Amino acid sequence: MKVTAVVLAAGSGQRVGSDIPKQFLALGDRPMIGHSLAVLETCEQVKAVVAVLPPDSGATEPNLEEFGKLVARVPGGASRQESLAHGLARVPEDTEAVMVHDAARPLLDQRLIDDLLAALDATCDGVIPAIPLEDTIKKVSDDLMVEGELDRRGVWRVQTPQLFHREALQDALDQAIDSDLESTDCSQMLTAAGYRVRVVEGDPLNFKVTRAADLWLAEQVLASRTDSE
Ligand code: C5P
Repeated sequence: MKVTAVVLAAGSGQRVGSDIPKQFLALGDRPMIGHSLAVLETCEQVKAVVAVLPPDSGATEPNLEEFGKLVARVPGGASRQESLAHGLARVPEDTEAVMVHDAARPLLDQRLIDDLLAALDATCDGVIPAIPLEDTIKKVSDDLMVEGELDRRGVWRVQTPQLFHREALQDALDQAIDSDLESTDCSQMLTAAGYRVRVVEGDPLNFKVTRAADLWLAEQVLASRTDSE
């Protein structure tokens, strides 16, 4: 199966509190986006990588020359879904499966990629990593008063990378655009279009760097991985 990865890095990432997009911030020895690209670079099954970058990031954009699998750098759109459309338009012709990953999850590791690849077969159109919720879930009002509890049974939180048969992803995206569905993850578009999406167990350390504290935590995890090498 010929797999191309599309790495989405065109968000402004303002919640982390920095002037430059968070996915370009230094994390250990490289910019945040470089960690995902480095894992994909050494991943045998991934043949090519498309990076979707902010259209106006100019001088803040890191040097990504070391990543030989990077076949295109594409300017992103106003939403994650639009950025995906821009990236998907540039995947190589012979791509059979597309792995969509958020650069904001720099702690991606090979084990998770292996699980996704093993689970994508003819019985489903896509595979996503997710983790069942363990905390009690509250409904809270705008003025911070508890309004009640939500039933967490069968509720999972979803991560990237997400892996799809290329044609299913392209068709689901086209349908989402036609019907004005704006999704926050790709699998939402597939299930809305009637495709089957399987779940594999996600990795708690593959969290999304959203706030400054996440950046600190990601540094600690990377440092401990380097120590144990
Ligand atoms: O904003 P959010 O955290 O959901 O973004 C998830 C990923 O999508 C990030 O890696 C971000 O850079 C990317 N994104 C994008 N284009 C946008 C908005 C977000 O590529 N317009």
